Amino acid sequence: MLVQGGLPDYLIVGGGTSGCVLAARLTESPDVRVLLVEAGPDLTEESQPADIRSGNPSRAFFTREFFFDGLMARFGAVPTVPDAPRPAAKYEQARVLGGGSAINGMLGNRGAPADYDEWEALGAEGWNWASTLPYFRKLERDLDVSGDLHGADGPVPISRPDPATFCGFVRGTRDMLLARGVPTVEDQNGDWGDGVMRVTTTISERAERASAAVCYLTPEVRRRPNLVVVTGRSVNRLMQDAGTVTGAEIAGPDGPVRIAARETIVCCGAINTPALLQRSGFGPADLLTRTGVPVVRDIAGVGQNLQEHPALGISCFIRPGNRHSDSRRHHTQVHYRFSSGLEGCPETDMHMAVLARSAWHDVGEQLGTYYLWINKSYSTGHVAIASPEADKLPDVDFRLLSDQRDLQRMRDGFRRVASVALDPALDAVRAEVFPTIFSDRVRQVSRPGQWNAFQTAVFARVLDFAGFARGALIRRFIAPYDIRELLADDAALDAYLHKAIVGVWHCVGTCRMGRADDPAAVTASDGRVHGVPGLRIGDASLMPTVPCANTNIPTFMLAERIADLIRSESRAAPAGLQQETMP
Ligand SMILES: Cc1cc2nc3c(=O)[nH]c(=O)nc-3n(C[C@H](O)[C@H](O)[C@H](O)COP(=O)(O)OP(=O)(O)OC[C@H]3O[C@@H](n4cnc5c(N)ncnc54)[C@H](O)[C@@H]3O)c2cc1C
Repeated sequence: MLVQGGLPDYLIVGGGTSGCVLAARLTESPDVRVLLVEAGPDLTEESQPADIRSGNPSRAFFTREFFFDGLMARFGAVPTVPDAPRPAAKYEQARVLGGGSAINGMLGNRGAPADYDEWEALGAEGWNWASTLPYFRKLERDLDVSGDLHGADGPVPISRPDPATFCGFVRGTRDMLLARGVPTVEDQNGDWGDGVMRVTTTISERAERASAAVCYLTPEVRRRPNLVVVTGRSVNRLMQDAGTVTGAEIAGPDGPVRIAARETIVCCGAINTPALLQRSGFGPADLLTRTGVPVVRDIAGVGQNLQEHPALGISCFIRPGNRHSDSRRHHTQVHYRFSSGLEGCPETDMHMAVLARSAWHDVGEQLGTYYLWINKSYSTGHVAIASPEADKLPDVDFRLLSDQRDLQRMRDGFRRVASVALDPALDAVRAEVFPTIFSDRVRQVSRPGQWNAFQTAVFARVLDFAGFARGALIRRFIAPYDIRELLADDAALDAYLHKAIVGVWHCVGTCRMGRADDPAAVTASDGRVHGVPGLRIGDASLMPTVPCANTNIPTFMLAERIADLIRSESRAAPAGLQQETMP
């Protein structure tokens, strides 16, 4: 028997940020049985590899075994070569217990109160700042700041870097912004205005990563007899009977296994959740018909409303003595939040992260990056299966900058960040300034490994001693654009933006909450899929809009609140569901 006492009440599919929260919270009631199925490997406090445990995320980011290898996405909305198909590039999504929280950048912020009020205005009844704040507090253990806005004893530690550890490049940038009159924001998670601030991170008291797997699925939680965690097993598709979801078919070494449950909660993340629904027959009828999936229920919104933060970088060659050489510490220490002032856009809609180093290797240590993103973005894209087969990854099309407000703000934002990077006040800490391209080659070199360590060590020595030739080497081997040429030519700048635009792994919104009479809404405000008994969503797919935040903390909050909503419901299991044991 999988879970002592019989059929699981809840089958949670996907053990990422949200799945771990739901598994831990729901099994606080001893009479609720939960089976959590995660496609990736197990992860515990003891077993996590050094690259994941580290307080510096730059190696975990690129370790292939923790990701859905081969997932591709189209980022920009405009072809970079006229009349040619828009190119796709790699897009990382976690495949490990803990999900994104086990490999992500560990930036831990909440977004603005207006983000959550907007969710309610868009039909997610009951989701607003006042109702979400208790869950932001519940999830966290803020190690630096106390008061009404902060939690002191939640599972997830929130910490901020000590300014004494800032390298010359970061200190110089911060001081230059302050000299320009930019205010200091003392608490990124409590003061919502524009300004320069220390980042908030999910780094623990022991200077280690705090993933959902470690913070929520503690040894004590995993000993609960009413919780079973199965890792290394992928759910192929949902099972249904006359439109009611009755469980899921799970891939196994001896063929698929069918597991019945009173309710199935899908937490596969904003890319894989809509794909799982679609290949199970829940999605836009035309897409399902085209891909050979029998339509169980035509739900137009499944896979639509894909949102991200459009992003790009401007990098600098940092002069020796001003670099971030402590590889145990996080490479992002300061954020700069600003308002575009574009009509119709809210305040603090823009964001610039100051990356003290751009990768774990020696060349990464030489390069600082100003990473600009639109924190309140409007462009939307979609996720669509290309085949009914469970092992085929979906088509992901972000269509970033398709909304004119995003394109205009990216143009203006690029100019603002360029003025930061080129400010003469920084001449002593940095040399060359160049627009970044986050290409597949950059990704490849960023994979941890001895060969990459060796070749970047050699190239780093060359760059340090190249003198006047360094600019040419950077253009030849790192990024081919000249920043002054782009600033002088609007058409060239637009072409660069469409080519260089990427996301920041903040995908959300593909099964969004909303009213039952809203054709774009997929679920009610408690995550239950409209018109599909037995099926609920519990992850970042639910968000009606992407908040002005890195999305991990908002996902923790969302899952905490969904868990509470579930616990407040009655528990009457339909009779007659059978389960098979898993080999
Ligand atoms: C590289 C990267 C960097 C990021 N950096 C930051 C950051 O610094 N700060 C921040 O706030 N956010 C960051 N994020 C985003 C953040 O981690 C996500 O918003 C968050 O993890 C979303 O949680 P989720 O539960 O919706 O999905 P996920 O955490 O992605 O979890 C989904 C889980 O479902 C599993 N799964 C998928 N399909 C199946 C299936 N068919 N069967 C079984 N299991 C399945 C996956 O293996 C995965 O474990 C980053 C994300 C990435 C990928």
